[in-house]
This record gives sequence, structure tokens and C-alpha cells, in this order.
Amino acid sequence: MDIAVNTSGSRYHVDKNGYYGRFGGAYIPEMLYPNVEELRQNYMQILSDTGFQQQFAHLLSDYVGRPSPLYLAQRLSEKYQANIYLKREDLNHTGAHKINNTIGQILLAQRLGKKRIIAETGAGQHGVATATVCALMGMECVVYMGSVDIERQAPNVARMKMLGATVMPATSGSRTLKDATNEAIRDWINNPVDTHYIIGSVVGPHPYPDMVARFQSVISEEIMRQLLEKTGRAYPDYVMACVGGGSNAAGAFFHFLDHEKVQLIPVEAAGKGVNSGFSAATSQLGRPGVIHASKTLLMQTEDGQIVEPHSISAGLDYPGVGPLHAHLFETGRARFLHATDDEALAAAFELTRLEGIIPALESSHALARLGDLALQPDDVVVVCLSGRGDKDMATYIRHLEQFTKS
Ligand SMILES: *Cc1c(COP(=O)(O)O)cnc(C)c1O
Repeated sequence: MDIAVNTSGSRYHVDKNGYYGRFGGAYIPEMLYPNVEELRQNYMQILSDTGFQQQFAHLLSDYVGRPSPLYLAQRLSEKYQANIYLKREDLNHTGAHKINNTIGQILLAQRLGKKRIIAETGAGQHGVATATVCALMGMECVVYMGSVDIERQAPNVARMKMLGATVMPATSGSRTLKDATNEAIRDWINNPVDTHYIIGSVVGPHPYPDMVARFQSVISEEIMRQLLEKTGRAYPDYVMACVGGGSNAAGAFFHFLDHEKVQLIPVEAAGKGVNSGFSAATSQLGRPGVIHASKTLLMQTEDGQIVEPHSISAGLDYPGVGPLHAHLFETGRARFLHATDDEALAAAFELTRLEGIIPALESSHALARLGDLALQPDDVVVVCLSGRGDKDMATYIRHLEQFTKS
């Protein structure tokens, strides 16, 4: 398996100090140092271990259902006049790519001798993926969630509870994701010996961004193999993925980062419009700052207060972006695009009617930019379909009449 591939010397992967260019690092309080340092010292050795890799591969295949298909979307390809493949992360157990990372991290926690798992969640998708692997392994699970989100996301709260997790409300600040993260960090400081903190995206202090990217890199590893089988070439012309924190994009890009002929297209959520004041297009609006112990691009006011992001999709509603993506933006290695709420909705209905696949609203942001690439008929485009749309049905139902002609 390639999760432990040696990336030293790469311009785009993490360096030995935990940085991507000038982004990344571990800006942690002193009291968190032992926990993060234990991870940093051990993660590559654990990921390199053959036994670990076998267990990870086994669970990905028999529990998650991997490899996820690489599907040539015929009618979508006809519409955009290119060869468009969908990487079907929507078909994974629990409905999205997040399970790849939680499987990897729970196996790692076991190797470190941890007995208890904590996590933060916004909309509840990462909380459900974490509660799922904790049930699988019979481990204690505590998920911190803003009390506002607990009210808004009742079905996911019920799933987590059914899976045996304790859902702890965060009642400070705006009572959403950022406050839940603060509570989780506080818990970790108080329980350094027996607890592992499963972070849900390529964010947080080093080594999390690299570790999570490696667990998600199974996506690009499979894309290369599947594309070679189907087309005789392993490298596509374009890889597109939506970006919240950036983990599905990091996984879809990972093995292509140093192959500069592969054009990387991350798509952020522009909400009601990039300059509307209701947006989550961090690369466009952000400035360097520190969020969740990592130096990265961050939406902030003049005096450094975090600006509340907005997106129709809860998974993209994040005021920062992982340090890898900040670096890909700054170096120009990736071409960052963005899509509004309305454009994502339209793309979701389009895919559904052309291919019979109801995508997650997050993934629909990537689909929404297919028309902007000036594609040639021979071009091979891979879109990471990060999740399925079941969780978004309430939103889709509200827009059914707008997008369905009788
Ligand atoms: C959480 C989520 C995302 C956003 O997270 P990334 O770390 O940016 O991948 C995207 N799509 C789906 C379906 C999600 O659940």
C-alpha cells in the first residue's frame, strides 16, 4: 500500500518540520504537547508496518466496500464533451469518504494503546463515521458538537447515539463546530494517556494534515490503478474535488501532486457569492492565520477574529482550509474555483437526471465547475464524488419544483 510512501523532497507534501511551504506546523498549547508529540513520533512507523497496512486494507475492502468504482459517466461526458469519470466515494459504508480516515485513525489509536476516542463534528458526518468505527472496535466514543448543531442535525445525533457514542453539547460562543473543537481539545488535555482525538479533515496540528491525507490517499491510489485498467494511462488531465477542510481533495490529489501535468481543481463553496458576506471560499477571502493549531489561510476580520462562513452544504462550512491546500493555492499548483449554493443545487439535479446518482451537496460544488474547464474531447477528467445525497434530501425537496420540469 502507498499510504506510507516516502514524500521527502517533494515540493508539495509536508516537510520534515511539519510545514507545507509557510503553512502548517503545530501551534499548540504547552499542555497538548505530549499528545501531539506522541503522534508525531509514531505515525509514520505505524503506517509503514505491514500488519497495520493489511488490517487497514482488509477493513477498507470488506467493511467499507472498497475499491470504490471509477465510473465513466456517459451522459455527463456527452454534455461536457470530454471523458468524465466519477470516483464513487458516495458508495462507501456510511455514505462518504470520511470513513477512510476514521478506519485508519482507530487502528492507529489501538496501536498506541488508547482506550477512548474523542472527536468534534459540525453537521455530524464525521461524528457518525467516528461513532461507527468505535462501535466496530468496541471502544468508548465521545463526540463534541455545538448545541446549535445538535438541534439542526437531529438524524445524525440519533445515529451517533444508536452507535453507542456520547454526544456532548458545546454551549460556548456560537455553539457550532469551532466551539465543539475547543471542547474536544480541552478533553484531550485532561485525558492525555488513554484518549486519541480523531480529527475529521486535513486540518489541525502536524501530523494530522499529513496523516489524514495519507489515509485518504487510497482514493488517488485507486484512481491511478483503475484509470490505467480502463484507458491505458494512469494520469488524468484533471482531478476535481470539493474543499471544506480539504480531505477528500487531498486524498484525490495525493499521488498526483508531483505530476504537474495533472491539473488539480479544488472547488470551494461561494455560498451566496464570494463577496456577499455569506461565503466559505477561503482561498479567495482568507489571509494567513492560525486556526486549530495550524497556520493556514483563514477567513478573518482586520483584527484577527474568525469570520463565520456560510454554505448550503454543512460539510463545506469551514472558515479555514488545510495547510496543504493553502500551499497549493499559494504556489499555483492547484487552480482554485468556487461554486455558489444555487450552482451546486443545479449541478446536483443535473447529475441526478443525467446519471441517476443523487450526490451530496458538497460534491455538487465540484460538479458545478465542469463547464469552466475548456475541455477537449480527449481529456480525461476525474471528479471525486465525495458523498451521497441522502443526508441532503430535506434541502433538495425544498428546491424540487425549481429544478424539475413536468
Ligand atoms: C465532510 C464532507 C466534505 C468536506 O470535507 P473535506 O475534508 O473537505 O473533504 C465533503 N463531502 C462530503 C460528502 C462530506 O461529508
